[in-house]
Amino acid sequence: MIAAFDIPVSKVERSKLNDTPLENIPFGRYFTDHMLEADYENGEWKNVEIKPYQPLLLDPSLAALHYGQAIFEGIKAYRDEQGNAYVFRPEDNFRRFNKSAERMNMPPVPEEIFMEGLRKLIALDKNWIPAMKEHSLYIRPLMFSTDTMLGVRPSETYKFLIILSPTGPYYAAPMKIVVEEAYTRAAPGGVGFSKNAGNYGGSMLAATVAKQQGYDQVLWTDAFEHKWLQEVGMMNVFFVINGVAVTPSLEEGTILAGVTRDSVMTVLKEMGITVEERRISIDELLEAYGKGALQEAFGTGTAAVIALIQELKYKEYAMKFDVSKASIALEVKERLAAIREARTPDTHNWMWKV
Ligand code: PMP
Repeated sequence: MIAAFDIPVSKVERSKLNDTPLENIPFGRYFTDHMLEADYENGEWKNVEIKPYQPLLLDPSLAALHYGQAIFEGIKAYRDEQGNAYVFRPEDNFRRFNKSAERMNMPPVPEEIFMEGLRKLIALDKNWIPAMKEHSLYIRPLMFSTDTMLGVRPSETYKFLIILSPTGPYYAAPMKIVVEEAYTRAAPGGVGFSKNAGNYGGSMLAATVAKQQGYDQVLWTDAFEHKWLQEVGMMNVFFVINGVAVTPSLEEGTILAGVTRDSVMTVLKEMGITVEERRISIDELLEAYGKGALQEAFGTGTAAVIALIQELKYKEYAMKFDVSKASIALEVKERLAAIREARTPDTHNWMWKV
């Protein structure tokens, strides 16, 4: 536990909640009544406050808009039948946020601002967490540079915000994926492991081209040979080969260390399934597929938790998967849902009580 930290709160005069039906609400379109804001100046964080959700006034020379020091996180909160609010593994997102900050030459956000701010903000807007099954409150912490001056150098000032968005069930339709051979998301020594805005800007064209060709997303490959598998769109990727779950390793720093990826690996091991974090190539997949050894392929991430892959296209090959037989992925999904819905003991303390 961190020491109590007094964050001033100014509340809205009138809540928008009664005008916002929360059932089946689409992702990321509605925001709660309040937000957390803090500013970094002269080497310290100040003006930490929770206030009504509102637009920001930005100078056109704002550094983040030009030079891209901008990072974010994605976390989910849930409400149980008694009305208690829980957040799934927020400390892991807090640590990852500061790793992203370090890589982007930005100052770390102190734990008492990130975690206590999160706690106080969610407690205040708790009624915005939809109590319906599979609904959640999506939490978006973000930080960006705020110096107002053109010139490429690390900014001396930054803004940190946390905003909250209620969201309905995420229907993760089985995905058709094409292996990316032209564009690259990340290279060793680059920023692939950080959750910075530019990684998303840089990935959109490949996803758009994939959609034009009838696919939902791309499977990213390495920058040099375009054959070592990385991530599937904005999710980590797992393959089940001969009963063993294989996921690309994080060693080269090109892959985001997903919190869901880590949870899925833990649950797989509890199911008695061997998990291998290692390099895996498209050639190995094709060979396993040819022998009938490639049983399942799926993506993992906060939004969908698990999204099954029904087709994987590479050159002239189309590997097809019968998603109704993805028993390992579906069992992991159910075990994670059981922890979230408190139908099973939370032995890892993943559910952080607000
Ligand atoms: N890879 C990328 C590029 C992502 O944006 C995300 C979503 N944060 C993930 C993987 C999955 O990470 P997590 O399980 O922490 O949501």
